[in-house]
Amino acid sequence: MPELPEVETIIRSLSLKIKGFEVSSFKLLFPGVLRNSSQKILERLRGRKIINLRRRGKMILIDFDNDLSLLCHLKMTGQFLICSSREPIDKHTHFILSFKGQLEELRFRDVRKFGSIFCLRTPEVLKFSKLGPEPLEMRFPRFRRLFQSRRARLKNLLLNQNFIAGIGNIYANEILFEAKLHPLTPVSLLEEEELLELWKAMRLVLRKAIKHRGSSIRDFKDAEGREGNFQDCHQVYGKESLPCPRCGERIERLCHGGRSSFFCSRCQKEKRKTF
Ligand SMILES: [Zn+2]
Repeated sequence: MPELPEVETIIRSLSLKIKGFEVSSFKLLFPGVLRNSSQKILERLRGRKIINLRRRGKMILIDFDNDLSLLCHLKMTGQFLICSSREPIDKHTHFILSFKGQLEELRFRDVRKFGSIFCLRTPEVLKFSKLGPEPLEMRFPRFRRLFQSRRARLKNLLLNQNFIAGIGNIYANEILFEAKLHPLTPVSLLEEEELLELWKAMRLVLRKAIKHRGSSIRDFKDAEGREGNFQDCHQVYGKESLPCPRCGERIERLCHGGRSSFFCSRCQKEKRKTF
């Protein structure tokens, strides 16, 4: 699933291509992709200009000049692609926006159909889902306050979108390795210094991943069909049994809550509650 760096990469490539374009028509090929309303609301996008493209957590927001926005979640396999309208439309393309005077159009493609698009009034968009703060827009005091009176295991909490928005399994693993923290650490046991290391690691890993235009593990591509290359910088994710890049110990894999954690048990010592 695309996480913050991949969605940010998509937004940047989309912005360069379609910001300022005026919608001439749309096609809804799989009506189920539009989750909150009927096709009627999309009629209001005709003749409207795209004034902004932005990201919130793992969601893509496309704002139009009439106070309407499309809020899109790519989920597992969703993709936004800019294609020539002459290119054949494949069976996984569910939604198309065409633009006045442009040969290129915006296609939403999703093989597994978990992705969704909502058409909402722009002022309502950010209230729509209760997402936690953006990890790159938080200073340390706010980050530290988030952890107060929390009881979960560290990795589960990082994956909780209502806690912090945008981090998924790849980046949670990489951040915890960078911060030298075990994924199952109860957050109540974290010391101030460890929280500071975690905050620094979160910023470092996410920024570096954005610079590398995200990780292309399965099918991630940006809006122009280009892959990211942060997968070449992964330290632990998907590296079970390979040597730890820091100490040489074999990287372990642990399944917890249906997700794999990759970590080095020497660099990321487990902390347990002592009774
Ligand atoms: Zn190690």
